[in-house]
Amino acid sequence: MTDRFNAMVIDLVDGKPVAGFREITTADLPDHDVLVEIACSTVNYKDGLAITSKGRIARRTPLIAGLDLSGTVVESRSPVWKAGDKVIVNGWGLSETESGGYTRYQRLKPEWLMPLPDAFSFEETMAIGTAGYTAALCVNVLEDWGMISPGQGEVLVTGAAGGVGSVAISLLAAKGYSVTASTGRPETHDYLRYLGASNIIDRATLSEKGGALQKERWTGAVDAVGSVTLANILAQTVYGGAVAACGLAGGADLPATVMPHILRAVTLIGIDSVMTAMPKRARAWKTLADHLDRTHLAKMTRIEPMSALPQLAQDIVSGRIQGRVVVDVN
Ligand code: NDP
Repeated sequence: MTDRFNAMVIDLVDGKPVAGFREITTADLPDHDVLVEIACSTVNYKDGLAITSKGRIARRTPLIAGLDLSGTVVESRSPVWKAGDKVIVNGWGLSETESGGYTRYQRLKPEWLMPLPDAFSFEETMAIGTAGYTAALCVNVLEDWGMISPGQGEVLVTGAAGGVGSVAISLLAAKGYSVTASTGRPETHDYLRYLGASNIIDRATLSEKGGALQKERWTGAVDAVGSVTLANILAQTVYGGAVAACGLAGGADLPATVMPHILRAVTLIGIDSVMTAMPKRARAWKTLADHLDRTHLAKMTRIEPMSALPQLAQDIVSGRIQGRVVVDVN
């Protein structure tokens, strides 16, 4: 295969990672066992950080950016996969230490691949992407914790109009939970209600430092924001409640006290999507297949060409993307 195709490559320029488009061939790809022809990729917050170099995401250069991909196996040296298999990849260090999805072809390790879930098309899996699959991981851990149950209390979702937030709201509402959405964008209120939020709060109410123990409001929460917001959520969580923390859109610090944990038995559950083991991934994708409303998914998604990536990256790190973006790599 000698065809040239476009890829978004992160390279070091004057010691700093810089992303740009470059024409490559399959000879430029890593020497992993499975060659995949990619149908599409997506834009997550971490992709935005990688492309804009606002966060040091690429820890090895040069590499092709893009956390996620879906596509079809073209060649395989692994007995597990054969030409024609439809697959997806989320995370596993793509765009960090391994080359990722912003390219027409990629070579990947067999253990990173999952079969394309029967319930979804290539585009739908990328409309979900790492952001949506992380939302499902959050919902699953909260339910496993056992303190949230439909019809009892409020579940808070922060960063509500973003990717993780949009999918979390849709999933929780479909499961019968009463969902409060926290957003800084009043223009998204109709959209958030459409996805199933029954209450909406201004994110500013969570971003001012409050007391160590505040009025108990949330039986559970999915937090994509971190920092003071997360400290306030913990201080407002009911006795025995749990918070799934997955993001840092508001900051990576956590100016909190132990008081909610030692006086109210509140639990802070950390969520990492990148190295999650296959059984948990499969369960998250089953949660999505069983509970994510496809019309919601379509409403929260737009498709953009790969040439739009530099602007999309700026937009997502500035909190200007509503829902999810699928990237057409062809
Ligand atoms: P998005 O940009 O789509 O969503 C983030 C949302 O956070 C924004 O839409 C905005 O929501 C809100 N927000 C943005 N800036 C601020 C701010 N300064 N203060 C408070 N709220 C803010 O990103 P994703 O949904 O893709 O990712 C969300 C977070 O989750 C990111 O930090 C990302 O890195 C993290 N993440 C972590 C994963 C893991 O494995 N742990 C996996 C996937 C994502 P609104 O306008 O509604 O207020």
